[in-house]
Amino acid sequence: MGLELLEERYQAFIAKNPGCMDQLTILAGRNSLIQLGMRALLDGITARICPACTACCCQCMPVDGWFTEGDYFIFRAANDAPFHLRIDHGLPNGCSFLGPHGCALPPDCRPFPCVKVNCKTVSRELDLCGSLEKFTRYYEALDSLQEQLWHLVHPETAPNPLQGSAA
Ligand code: SF4
Ligand code: SF4
Repeated sequence: MGLELLEERYQAFIAKNPGCMDQLTILAGRNSLIQLGMRALLDGITARICPACTACCCQCMPVDGWFTEGDYFIFRAANDAPFHLRIDHGLPNGCSFLGPHGCALPPDCRPFPCVKVNCKTVSRELDLCGSLEKFTRYYEALDSLQEQLWHLVHPETAPNPLQGSAA
């Protein structure tokens, strides 16, 4: 989904549900910690394996990242709208946040599919260096956060599990 539309939806959501902002901020804080943990593990291997990749995931039509409503709302709870981070790189199928040194988005707040890497090479390398189990725990924590986020963004689907919980 393009950035303009996501921003429009975020503004509409906040205008309609101002009481959700606190919960969104709590989830954004948890997301940041989880993503920093994942990043530390991924940074140890991606610099070595990704430059040689023939099917680079950042150049497979992610448009403005792989953002969907949920992770964009989380992003916005912790950051300004990232219009200024888009890069005119001229790559036909390249993500608009892909810069010469990698992703221009903050390392603690990228779209979920960008950190929940579904890449066999990454999984193999994580396994080889003994980090796969730790990465899987972060992955599961992000799954759980996504579930909570889903109900927050779509309150009509089920009772909100964050309602009344402490931070
Ligand atoms: S994460 Fe996997 S698919 Fe993406 S660039 Fe690296 S090796 Fe390629
Ligand atoms: S990691 Fe960054 S550059 Fe790559 S697809 Fe995701 S948002 Fe785009």
